[in-house]
Amino acid sequence: MKLLCKLHFDTRRSGSIDEIFITTQEELDYVRGKNMYFSEELGKYSEFIVPVSDEVVTKLTDDQEFISKAIEYGLVGEEHRPWYRIPEETCESCGEWSMTWDQEKCPGCGADR
Ligand SMILES: [Zn+2]
Repeated sequence: MKLLCKLHFDTRRSGSIDEIFITTQEELDYVRGKNMYFSEELGKYSEFIVPVSDEVVTKLTDDQEFISKAIEYGLVGEEHRPWYRIPEETCESCGEWSMTWDQEKCPGCGADR
């Protein structure tokens, strides 16, 4: 089931980031607690590390009809996720390949995360 969510992150000094995106509860549970790196998005030399939590991610609705309409009208993209800010992790098995947030297995040696 799709969820329409909002990422809101306010830095006070450098402004704020607001993004509407679509995810699922499973995905949300999976990325919860992982750090997102905001690098210079809010101005030069600004970098923020923010863990995914209920403080920055708000569930707006799970109304599937509404979400379908929002996609159809182009109000929200289905592909966009704020999670691209989660850095790649080096595979603990081979130590050679890295995995992005959405890869469950190492693309090199095939080991589970
Ligand atoms: Zn590996």
